[in-house]
Amino acid sequence: MAADEERDGVALTNLDQQLFEGAGATKRELVDYLDALHDRIVPVLRDRPLSVIRILRGQDAFMQKNVPKYTPDWVRTVTRWADASKREVRYALCDDRRTLLWFGNQRAIEYHPALTRSDRADVVTDLILDLDPPEGDAFDQVVAAAHLVRQALADAGLAGAVKTSGSKGVHIFVPVDESVGIADVAAATRALAARAERIDPQVATTAFIKEDRAGKVFLDSTRAGGATVVAAYSPRLRPGLPVSFPVAWDDLDRVKPADFTIHTAPDLLGAADPWAERLPRRNGSPTTSSRRDTRSPSPACRRCTRASAGPAPAARGFEGYRPGKHPVMRAVTWQGRREVSVDNVPDPRIQEPTDAIVEVTSTGICGSDLHLYEVMSPLMEKGHILGHEAMGVVREVGSQVRTAAPGDRVVIPFQVCCGHCHMCVQGLQTQCETTQARESGMGAALFGYPKLYGEVPGGQAELLRVPQAQYMPIKVPQGPPDDRFVYLSDVLPAAWQAVEYADVPAGGTLVVLGLGPVGDMSARVAAQRGAGRVIGVDLVPERLERARARGIEVVDLRETDDLAGEVRDRTDGRGCDSVVDAVGMEAHGSAAARLAQQMAGLLPDAVAAKVTQRIGADRLTALYCAIDIVRRGGTISIAGVYGGMADPLPMLTLFDKQIQLRMGQANVKRWIDDIVPLLARDDDPLGTETFATHRLPLAEAPRAYDMFQKKLDGAVKILLQP
Ligand SMILES: [Zn+2]
Ligand SMILES: [Zn+2]
Repeated sequence: MAADEERDGVALTNLDQQLFEGAGATKRELVDYLDALHDRIVPVLRDRPLSVIRILRGQDAFMQKNVPKYTPDWVRTVTRWADASKREVRYALCDDRRTLLWFGNQRAIEYHPALTRSDRADVVTDLILDLDPPEGDAFDQVVAAAHLVRQALADAGLAGAVKTSGSKGVHIFVPVDESVGIADVAAATRALAARAERIDPQVATTAFIKEDRAGKVFLDSTRAGGATVVAAYSPRLRPGLPVSFPVAWDDLDRVKPADFTIHTAPDLLGAADPWAERLPRRNGSPTTSSRRDTRSPSPACRRCTRASAGPAPAARGFEGYRPGKHPVMRAVTWQGRREVSVDNVPDPRIQEPTDAIVEVTSTGICGSDLHLYEVMSPLMEKGHILGHEAMGVVREVGSQVRTAAPGDRVVIPFQVCCGHCHMCVQGLQTQCETTQARESGMGAALFGYPKLYGEVPGGQAELLRVPQAQYMPIKVPQGPPDDRFVYLSDVLPAAWQAVEYADVPAGGTLVVLGLGPVGDMSARVAAQRGAGRVIGVDLVPERLERARARGIEVVDLRETDDLAGEVRDRTDGRGCDSVVDAVGMEAHGSAAARLAQQMAGLLPDAVAAKVTQRIGADRLTALYCAIDIVRRGGTISIAGVYGGMADPLPMLTLFDKQIQLRMGQANVKRWIDDIVPLLARDDDPLGTETFATHRLPLAEAPRAYDMFQKKLDGAVKILLQP
């Protein structure tokens, strides 16, 4: 066939034929367009396995991945295994003008490069969101959704570039560091979509099922890994040959996809390459490469030679995106003794079919977090995510999760438990045999704890991966504020179990030692469940005041030097029927430690001496106190955390007084059905809605920990709100 023309050694044929019916363009116009922009198109295609959409005369269009047999040998190719078709595919790499012209002559209209380069099938260069209008051509809706994505990126310290798809929607590209794995990029993409949706759920949706999208713009986060996306500047196989065109974010509201065609784009662009400018892609740092640009020796084809085939697109705004530190989710991490920080960490993702991902809306700081904050420091690993009192909205579930579905409001128990093992079925979820930290010989794994308890990343984070989600999530109704339900994660079942274990006889008297969150709630629960009398003991004015305000009788340790006498006076000289010890082992210098020290001063001399000499003042004093004030035959229920391996107990007294001792972490799920009816009542009998003294954004976690540890500003219970 005689060539009409030859360019760069490529024979061009039949240039005056229409490309397809309604194209409004000849093959010559296509080739001229590609040639005019080759210095901007080649860089986005270079070294990437290329698929093209071709349309031959009088035939249907088709996507070509495998290069045809007659491909000239100067077209570089790469062979990749295609999972979808279960065969090897030999892709072209469009590395130069000549190859691009050859493709143009082949009537290749659309250019879809891979997100990977030829030498690394496992490294993607971009994170991509594909935004399409729900119905018709509602581009203004797409633009509104794109702005949400831009906001979500900015919130994470990132920036991306946007281009029209050339069809009805837009593509948002965020370059990623080559060291980030495909799975992490995919997770980050999903998280980005989820966050954009969350900013305005009326505008955008991540629903995969079309019927669920309700006329909103779908944020398609599936273009990861092996996917291809049409290249910037590529024409599209549509009437008038529109092109995918880079748009400045601020211009997005003023353009229509149809503004950009092979006929208009060259004039609009002039010599500019807005895609390369907004999506810098280079070896080395942004500054060095832009300097190199200006010194480029070949002005005629500067852009063409600029983008190297090498890897490492480190991009503007993306310095933080590295494994273990990619700024998609924020979480409170342990950094050292009395030091926490709010960090960028990888979003959690579904790892097992029984996992769920929960978007955390409220998450408590617990007294036991203070143990990790200082006492247990030697066991902690830097960077571990803290927190075990989380609730939120289910974002994603594994294939075996039926307890909850995306969108459900759930509370997550602090211990990880399976619901079907020997222990779980008898309501001892804290001893779950499926999640037990066997290496350390401890019970069920706990969120936010070190190796001792399974090292499960915690809930003081924007997202929480919930293992054993076929059982774990506690579904709660929409409507009431988080405060109603968040304490189901720990405080409420801990208090409920403490009172249950205290076994207060009908009309009997319960003394609660320590009015921190669990002690305070135990007093409330006991009063609610009909204890004859509840006496709370503490020395912190705010705590005493809270209890008093709810009608709990209190003993202020600052005002008495004889607690046991005080209690006996109020109980016909016998002592109380039951005690809840909600003090436990606490941090030195904390209010609880001061409480314990104060109690030591109240103990009978002989006992006190033993305590202070042998184990220090602040370890077992609350328990000794309990042993002292409980009546003969009474029950002590220990809710505070004890951690000593060799603590001495006064066995003679315990035996002689016939004292029952019960203790242990709360088996959260065991008590939920008992507690929830109280939370559902309009009058909020346990006072959950006013229980928190502080609600702070997640970002203020360091200040919150400090405040909680020092009990500043009346801090009794702090909720963080991611
Ligand atoms: Zn807790
Ligand atoms: Zn279990």
